[in-house]
Amino acid sequence: MLQPIEPAPDPTLPLGHPRDLGGPWHSEAACRSDEAGLFFAPSKEPTAARLSREEAAKRVCARCPVMLECREHAILQPEPYGVWGGMTAAERRVVLARRRRREVELQHAAPRIAAAG
Ligand code: SF4
Repeated sequence: MLQPIEPAPDPTLPLGHPRDLGGPWHSEAACRSDEAGLFFAPSKEPTAARLSREEAAKRVCARCPVMLECREHAILQPEPYGVWGGMTAAERRVVLARRRRREVELQHAAPRIAAAG
């Protein structure tokens, strides 16, 4: 049996999803009026159900006026679980890894560029 990629959040901790936060952009979150379970995986969620749930969550994010703020927050935090800013945790990890790789490349390139200039 396939295991869910994302474990369910610890129920003893606050969810910390935009719908539950009180920051400057959270009050405009489209997910404030949507089903709580849409954005986080329940334990032992079958893959097909997970994909379907994530697509439904992403549809909510697609109409959200603060999607970019939410996505950036979730990437930089980084938020380890759930759909934030129209991206799953796995998708955000890929973006973050690419950014970090790019930063390292730029740090290595800077001395060469300075020497050439
Ligand atoms: S982008 Fe998605 S997760 Fe983020 S606040 Fe909007 S609806 Fe919620």
